[in-house]
Amino acid sequence: MTDNYSLNTDEHSGNYYKIDKPEEACGVFGIYAPGEDVTKLTYFGLYALQHRGQESAGIATIQGDKIYTHKGMGLVSQVFNESILQQLPGNIGIGHTRYSTTGSSRIINAQPTVVETHLGPLATAHNGNLVNTVELREKLIRRGCDFKSTTDSEMITLAIATELKTGKSWLEAAMSAFHLCQGAFSLTIATPEGLMGVRDPHGIRPLVIGTLESVNPKKYVLASETCALDIIGAEYMRDVEPGELVWITEKGMASFHWSEKPQRKLCIFEMIYFARPDSMTERGSLYSYRLKIGRQLAKESLISADMVIGVPDSGIPAAIGFSLESGITYAEGLIKNRYVGRTFIQPTQHMRESGIRMKLNPLKDVLEGKRVIIVDDSIVRGNTSKKIVKALRDAGAIEVHMRISSPPVTHPCFYGIDTDSQEQLIGATKSVAEIAEQIGVDSLAYLSWEGMLKSTEEDPNSFCSACFTGNYPIPLPERLKLSKVMLDNPVKV
Ligand code: SF4
Repeated sequence: MTDNYSLNTDEHSGNYYKIDKPEEACGVFGIYAPGEDVTKLTYFGLYALQHRGQESAGIATIQGDKIYTHKGMGLVSQVFNESILQQLPGNIGIGHTRYSTTGSSRIINAQPTVVETHLGPLATAHNGNLVNTVELREKLIRRGCDFKSTTDSEMITLAIATELKTGKSWLEAAMSAFHLCQGAFSLTIATPEGLMGVRDPHGIRPLVIGTLESVNPKKYVLASETCALDIIGAEYMRDVEPGELVWITEKGMASFHWSEKPQRKLCIFEMIYFARPDSMTERGSLYSYRLKIGRQLAKESLISADMVIGVPDSGIPAAIGFSLESGITYAEGLIKNRYVGRTFIQPTQHMRESGIRMKLNPLKDVLEGKRVIIVDDSIVRGNTSKKIVKALRDAGAIEVHMRISSPPVTHPCFYGIDTDSQEQLIGATKSVAEIAEQIGVDSLAYLSWEGMLKSTEEDPNSFCSACFTGNYPIPLPERLKLSKVMLDNPVKV
């Protein structure tokens, strides 16, 4: 995902305006680089991962057996300045940008999570959601744990700390703790002995390894996405594998496969929307994948029109792909105000009524009298799409055809993405024809599930696509299903 929509200004949720998109996962970063300015490199790594979470940011560094931490609410650039960074010395650093999925948006829940153990400080940065938090919390309470936050991330940290108490090493304690966790977790973990990078057995959330140019010892970087390696000049080496733990110490990097049954189920939404388009997978950039799904969308649902436009920024690559495949001219029809972040201030009533203008403005002279195909990556509630369509028509478009570069979102995510409950998902409660009518388009088509997976050019079984199918790769406890999802509710197609 590359941007944040704040178009549906009439949906007030908590203390900010809820966007009409599935919201970001968190961003994690880690670095083992004695002799380098670890803190500054962590800062810039987080800066590149800002799109994954804008609610809070934090850095923890370790020097010797001392830990230095700074966390705050807001963007990376708001939380840190030169003088704060100078107070965080270290050879090892981890960092986190947070979007709250478990635990509310409060400073107490900002990461990295830090605890003291008899082997020294332990700091973790977590991306993902555990699904067995009730059971894990009870277990940790029985072990005498005291919780300072409401996050599942703290539970992982405390699970490691309590395993250490039984006399285990850092490595043994971490691996035992991960066996207690079910769900999605990509972690960077800092200890006085070294840096760990870990993925859950399904590898739902991404985690990559890079190296900084150095002879001996090698200096390693871990990050949610390769864009965080690029910004500090680190070279992409490989992904941390599902169920793998990498342990980076003064001896170099060692790999441990801690899970008996790893089975990759990477979140397909990372490919479509969450991750930055300039981030790489082993198959190429996500920009290339998004071009491909745009081409596939054109093959599946071409219609006669004068131009193809994309919803900035995340719909643009698929719109270009659609144009390349169809031969219909690509144009910019909506201009995004790139210099606004999420607003915490309520707009005026007049602004609410005019709705869309806060971030996207249509280009009248481009759209006037034209039959327009508009490409976006998803529709969640439909409110944003409706406002965009109205704005295009107000700007003079004579036909508006919407094409979506993913299938209808019919089920909520339990693995670290903040989607609505099922009854709020327009794709779960309405047919495509009904959605078209509600958002006011002349035609609407979604990419097929097969087309989405085929375009990855990988084994389709190696992705989680549960929000399109309801086939959750990690079993969900009943209480979760009841609180967030109506699994038995028939989906209209
Ligand atoms: S349910 Fe959807 S958003 Fe969640 S991990 Fe699976 S594909 Fe990604």
